Amino acid sequence: MALLEIVNYPDPVLLTVGKPLGDDEFTGDLEALVTDMFETMEKAGGVGLAAPQVGVSKRLFVMSVSSEDSDPQRHALINPQIIHIEGEQTGDEGCLSFPGLFQVVQREMRVIAQARDIKGEEFELDVSGLAARCILHETDHCDGIVFLDRMTPLKRQLAKRKIKTLQKTGKWN
Ligand SMILES: [Zn+2]
Repeated sequence: MALLEIVNYPDPVLLTVGKPLGDDEFTGDLEALVTDMFETMEKAGGVGLAAPQVGVSKRLFVMSVSSEDSDPQRHALINPQIIHIEGEQTGDEGCLSFPGLFQVVQREMRVIAQARDIKGEEFELDVSGLAARCILHETDHCDGIVFLDRMTPLKRQLAKRKIKTLQKTGKWN
């Protein structure tokens, strides 16, 4: 196991569409990457981490979100697809590639996602609230979209100004 280096915005890999994993890529290497991603995410105190955030331009992410009635559940979603969305929620969102930046982002309230697990088996997740926000945020990463792109123009402007300040004070690499 190893901690991976998390890349910060505006690293080009964050703005690149990730490559879907082929049938021959469900190997021990993938399991090792997923294990390292869970470890890296948990060490950094995040609830989700997508492969592009560790410099790997592929369609996969890990998440670990607890809800009111359950302990954190770990999921690795490979080649994720959003197959249903409904409702909406508004709340603060953060991202491990935007250290120290939190901003209001509107997202759908409920999501059904389809993906493959590390063995290549297809599964579905039907979640709402924070877990839904997480799946939408991380699937965006797989598509080369960052949460800045999901903010209103005003919030995006505020966020960009804050990033500049953080960069100047050396709190952003
Ligand atoms: Zn993120």
